Amino acid sequence: MSGCVFCRIVSGDAPATKIFEDDILLAFLDIRPITRGHTLVIPKNHASDLDDLNPALGAQLFAGGHRLAKAMRRSDFPADGANLLINDGKAAFQTVHHVHLHVIPRQTGDTFTFAKGFVLRRPHDMEHTAAAIRTGLDRLAAEERETHA
Ligand code: AMP
Ligand code: ZN
Repeated sequence: MSGCVFCRIVSGDAPATKIFEDDILLAFLDIRPITRGHTLVIPKNHASDLDDLNPALGAQLFAGGHRLAKAMRRSDFPADGANLLINDGKAAFQTVHHVHLHVIPRQTGDTFTFAKGFVLRRPHDMEHTAAAIRTGLDRLAAEERETHA
């Protein structure tokens, strides 16, 4: 959709630090992260909010976020957990009107940092951070191969 910044990221017309992509989904770092590794997962096809989103695609979106949360536990900045969140509609503070699932890695005891993070939201070393999470995805895939071997 022209004028949509996330559609421009999908088409390559706007920059992003990508974590993974397939035919359906794209995941990239949030430019104003609440914690290091804060990632957004989006459907490549434009849907503005949950009202506009095919439920089967919503399930795939969650599966992508689920996978990322598992990868973050295995990344080079290992998380202890994650917050998965969708702001659906202006009333819920949605500011980019292309559905996105926030995956926000958490550390035990970081509550104060997380609360502050909403105000501070400063980018970390994006390439290094993205590489750490991609390593987590590789480790997860290796674990799954071992389990199914
Ligand atoms: P929301 O309030 O759920 O609509 O959040 C939108 C998120 O998109 C915010 O956390 C922004 O920091 C993030 N964001 C906006 N533009 C970009 C961009 N060009 N690349 C990466 N993240 C973005
Ligand atoms: Zn869009």
